Amino acid sequence: MNHCDVLIVGGGPAGSSLAWALRNSGLDIMLVDRSYFPRNKVCAGWITPKVLNALQIDINDYARHNIIQPVHGFRISLMGSEPVKIDYAGEPISYGIRRCEFDHYLLQRINAEIKQGFSIESIRPVGKEWLVNNDIRTALIIGAGGHFCPVARQINNGNKKEIEKIVAQEIEIECTDAELAACDIDRTIPELFFCEDLKGYGWIFPKGNVLNIGLGREDNRQLSHHVKKFSEYLLRHNKLPKNHALKFNGHAYQLYKQTPRHIIDDGMLLVGDAAGLAYSQSGEGICPAIESSLLAASVIEQAQGNYSREQLGSYPVLIERHFGKRQLYSKDNVITKQIKKYMANKLLKSKWFVRHIVLDKWFLHTNSKLLKI
Ligand SMILES: Cc1cc2nc3c(=O)[nH]c(=O)nc-3n(C[C@H](O)[C@H](O)[C@H](O)COP(=O)(O)OP(=O)(O)OC[C@H]3O[C@@H](n4cnc5c(N)ncnc54)[C@H](O)[C@@H]3O)c2cc1C
Repeated sequence: MNHCDVLIVGGGPAGSSLAWALRNSGLDIMLVDRSYFPRNKVCAGWITPKVLNALQIDINDYARHNIIQPVHGFRISLMGSEPVKIDYAGEPISYGIRRCEFDHYLLQRINAEIKQGFSIESIRPVGKEWLVNNDIRTALIIGAGGHFCPVARQINNGNKKEIEKIVAQEIEIECTDAELAACDIDRTIPELFFCEDLKGYGWIFPKGNVLNIGLGREDNRQLSHHVKKFSEYLLRHNKLPKNHALKFNGHAYQLYKQTPRHIIDDGMLLVGDAAGLAYSQSGEGICPAIESSLLAASVIEQAQGNYSREQLGSYPVLIERHFGKRQLYSKDNVITKQIKKYMANKLLKSKWFVRHIVLDKWFLHTNSKLLKI
């Protein structure tokens, strides 16, 4: 029988950040993941400098063996309309990474026992502890297993209210220099293409010699149809090399504002996608995964071995303070939808709006506080 103080389920950015944040806590930490690393994760791989700062990542060290594409601007349009290009002088405003590399890199920095190829099958209470897979005993289980995390399922016990989610598909294509040069893209500028009904957006994100393309929507009906239309659009506009098979991979996750998930229970706490924390306007989930883990680490350290629901109660409070109040089920009515569509058509042509609202406020969160531990 194995034993640890804290068992982290999931070695994505949420799980590895928590283990990293607790590296000097003196706690005996074990991290398990059903995959073997380096593993891929369906994701565009866009991060902001906040992510690197929060995790104290030395960019030169990272770049030694991994792709990290500095981004100095974005090109944004309503699909089919003329794009607005915004350039930012100075430091990069974002970076493009590959998740197979990024997640592996983060995992290598932690000070914990790691069990790979270990899938959580059962979680049973034994006295004041949990027994996982009849193999590991622990006082605290962290659910960092993404949207379908088994710990999140256990806490929420099949919560039927959970209907709103983002569905997205992406593909990463490795290209030659000649192929990229022949395409009508700027290798340092990602492009975003908002869907006409504003329920999502497509992207093309060049990272070194890799092109990541994909599309995410709040509405899971006909996602593959939207993705097909989008890739045909990109091919027609010479944004993609023509001779690559476009086999997309999909995944789902939840936006913070609409997630009704409970995120703590006795001896259990959720971080990252397991808690449903992605930013509502952009769908960005890596930074919230990391930030939630930094907040969770401070609560776990203060708990001093008492992981009752009451003791962990400060975690949802900190989450709400940092991410704002959730607005469950605030659906648009027909009129606001029409107004939004009309406004979007006009506003997405305005350089001021695209820079200050879409980019600075919704995507880059330039005014938000930097979380550090
Ligand atoms: C198409 C798409 C594009 C996206 N693009 C971006 C982007 O560009 N930028 C951004 O910030 N966010 C993006 N996101 C969101 C982002 O990918 C997630 O928010 C982020 O990965 C959350 O990290 P996490 O650590 O919580 O979960 P994950 O990264 O999903 O990690 C969970 C880990 O848990 C493991 N696991 C799951 N179940 C079990 C189990 N039963 N037992 C053991 N281990 C288990 C998995 O193997 C996995 O390694 C995108 C999402 C999608 C679908």
